[in-house]
Amino acid sequence: QADEVEVAVFSVPSYACQRRTSLDNRNTVLTDALSLLAENAELSDQDGRGVAFRRAAAVMKSLPEPVTSMTQLRGLPCLGEHSLRVIRDVLENGASREVESMKQSKQYKALKVLTGVFGVGAKTAARWIREGIHTLHQLRNSGHTLNRAQQAGLEHYDDLNQQVSKAEAEAIQQIVEEVVASVLPGAKVTLTGGFRRGKLMGHDVDFLITHPEEGKEVGLMSKVVSWLESQGFLLYQKTTRNSYLVSDDSPALPPSNMDRFERCLSIFKLAQDQPHRAKQLGALPLDTAEHRRGDSGLQTDQDSCSQRIQTPGGQEDTKPWRAVRVDLVVSPISQFAFAVLGWTGSKLFERELRRWAGQEKAMSLSSHALYDNKKRKYLQASSEEEIFAHLDLEFIPPSERNA
Ligand code: ATP
Ligand code: MN
Ligand code: MN
Repeated sequence: QADEVEVAVFSVPSYACQRRTSLDNRNTVLTDALSLLAENAELSDQDGRGVAFRRAAAVMKSLPEPVTSMTQLRGLPCLGEHSLRVIRDVLENGASREVESMKQSKQYKALKVLTGVFGVGAKTAARWIREGIHTLHQLRNSGHTLNRAQQAGLEHYDDLNQQVSKAEAEAIQQIVEEVVASVLPGAKVTLTGGFRRGKLMGHDVDFLITHPEEGKEVGLMSKVVSWLESQGFLLYQKTTRNSYLVSDDSPALPPSNMDRFERCLSIFKLAQDQPHRAKQLGALPLDTAEHRRGDSGLQTDQDSCSQRIQTPGGQEDTKPWRAVRVDLVVSPISQFAFAVLGWTGSKLFERELRRWAGQEKAMSLSSHALYDNKKRKYLQASSEEEIFAHLDLEFIPPSERNA
């Protein structure tokens, strides 16, 4: 009994959107293990299990100190039998047998490599694996016709699997801001995604663009993209037009994590400032033990920045640019608060916000609007704070949405 009195008992509310989750994760070994199981489930088309492990990992991320004994976990939400078994294994043996053997499995390794190609999802990867394709080499020689995204993904594989630094994100922000200002004066660019949450590394850079005068944003994306393209900034882009209804009495949007904004998924060609390259590119190869070093922003001294490429002449050279994934989204000002909230993440935080809205408040939240099912009306908001207030939630700033 005595040792039980000494250990901290954590009190954690069950929805991630009710908690503060900073980047200062005290339980990375545990959360890495759980995140890996989540990732494997997602890659294996088992989204339900994936969410369960993500929720368990998020609870561990929110704890104020390292967990050392199972008794500390009593009463914590979202920890299922399986997650608890993994945690116990890590606490007792330093690692989880299940996770370690999964990491070594052929299936997991192949899924990782193939879904590491931009444009390749879990389903496509699984199909290729069933055909015996496990490596990029085998994929290249398979005779499969790849779509444009996948071709670009394969071509820039190494660059795109290396994390983007904050400095690179800022360099891209500067470019995007200049372009936007020149095609539509007064338009506003907001950095969203992981970098808005304070991460020092990311897998891409996300931007939301709007204009303070409703309607001015119409047609903006195509102008921005044309300009970027004419300047040689884009290695790839695919723009999707918006599909939301602009009328006032539009029906409640389906509860979905897919939004209907005009968006552009792109690959930027980012010039490297030679003298500063080492600093800019302290990036680690992407490791989806998810936010392992990505979230904490730790860098290694590993020199992953000087990529050697073969020139036509056969001698090695260092290319003066690198490919970076960039997402651009345009929103009308009337939906801007919902769009910023929806595009800031983390993905689990967003999912939990929608679940809270639906299950606890009988409301439907999307990146466009908040609908009150009982009052049968949309609730207006011009800031994230107002949305949290409508939802009866304490405001959680972006830096504490790292669930
Ligand atoms: P990373 O640093 O790895 O990029 P991130 O948190 O920025 O992490 P993203 O995948 O870039 O992750 O997503 C950023 C945000 O955009 C998330 O909150 C996600 O919910 C939202 N998002 C991404 N894709 C879509 C989409 N198709 N529709 C709606 N929202 C999306
Ligand atoms: Mn991102
Ligand atoms: Mn993104």
